[in-house]
Amino acid sequence: MLIAKKRVILSFVILVCISLALVFTSNSGAVKTSNEEKVSSQILNDEINKGIKIQTETKETEILTTFKMIPFLNIEAIDNPIHKWASDQEKVFTEELEKSGISGGEKIPAHLNYQTDIHKLDENIYNFVITVEQFIHNEMKNTYVKTYMVDLENKSFISIPDMFADTDKLVTFLTEKIKDDKEITKDVLNNLYDLNWEIHDDEFILYINLDEELNNEIKSLKIQLVELHSYLNEDYKEILISKKIAKEIKAIEEKKNNKNRKLDPNGKYIALTFDDGPHATNTIQILKTLKDYDAKATFFMLSKNVEFYPDIAKEVAKSGHEIGNHSITHVNLNAVNNNRMKTEIVESKQQIKEVTGIEPQLFRPPYGEQNQVVINHSEKTNQSVILWSIDSLDWKSKNVKSIYNTTINQVRPGSIILFHDIHKQTADALPLILDSLTDKGYEFVTVSELIPLLDQNGIGPYYGN
Ligand code: ZN
Repeated sequence: MLIAKKRVILSFVILVCISLALVFTSNSGAVKTSNEEKVSSQILNDEINKGIKIQTETKETEILTTFKMIPFLNIEAIDNPIHKWASDQEKVFTEELEKSGISGGEKIPAHLNYQTDIHKLDENIYNFVITVEQFIHNEMKNTYVKTYMVDLENKSFISIPDMFADTDKLVTFLTEKIKDDKEITKDVLNNLYDLNWEIHDDEFILYINLDEELNNEIKSLKIQLVELHSYLNEDYKEILISKKIAKEIKAIEEKKNNKNRKLDPNGKYIALTFDDGPHATNTIQILKTLKDYDAKATFFMLSKNVEFYPDIAKEVAKSGHEIGNHSITHVNLNAVNNNRMKTEIVESKQQIKEVTGIEPQLFRPPYGEQNQVVINHSEKTNQSVILWSIDSLDWKSKNVKSIYNTTINQVRPGSIILFHDIHKQTADALPLILDSLTDKGYEFVTVSELIPLLDQNGIGPYYGN
């Protein structure tokens, strides 16, 4: 009796083994199905990250070979929609091929290929970017992308309305970004759930699958997260805002606050201006002094020097100071032809913007030498021509005591004072000057902040010497 029972159990075990082998073969080996399909599928054992695996599948029919490399998480709520989407793509392509009566003679005429990029956003949040390519007779006919953002903890997808609290503002923002791009149709933003997008390396990336007329290419639009952070859902802000961009956001906010700062019409304000920089050491020393006295200033930079010292130019911008344009090479604009004049005024502005991210709104001509053409070029590019009301003569005296005296003896509310951050003596005189003026009740603002007040109080002139 005992022996018989043992035999039954043994047979059962063998049966299970055979069944398993069959299941295993149909999953991982090549099997020819009734409609002449050969399918081979396997899940790669290596976890890419926390339960995320890649499933590969190769398939062969009379007209099509398919190679799929798509995510497999063993979470139905995520796997099923992705795998259904993938097989739908195959179905649609097969139907198209059949409709077109494609044939390849001895060779299988078409190929379909899926590749997946996985980008980690957080411990539990991953982006899958699946790229599909369709080939017919060895030529790529179409490529497009499909993205999924998944939340492993909640076993769900994250949609744009999940990620962004203010979708109206997001759409307005994105509409503005794509409005000049003739390749992108405007209805692309109609359904936010249909968008292909991800967040990767502090960037929001929108993928747009272009139409046939545009060679079916994939366009990607990259937007710095800093620009979008205010529309994010609070929960995700914490996850997405890295230390690096938090710092950038703070600098932008501070700048905005300064711009919007309402000055007291009866207050005593002065605009300190520093020309000809940035300079490798003196500008840094000046930035430190300004910070100590909670002073904001305006730096009229030569874009040639911005090119030499981009980090220092960026530091000036980050510290919340105003950046003005002082030409590329400090050439006397009254001594050059119209073309050169234009280059010095317009291209310098561009160069400064490229490095610092700040578009200068002010232009100060070298030596204060200007004429109507200079003013025209400046105004056409949204730059006000700004000179000064007090020249500290630091360039001439190069003497700390003398810079101090010249400044203090002439100062009055509304003064725009000319300094140069390329001179060590100017950097050394600055703490003495700020000390004395702070005692007298002065506050230090940027030129753009000061000018509306000057207009309002009829104080002037704010330029000329
Ligand atoms: Zn100058």
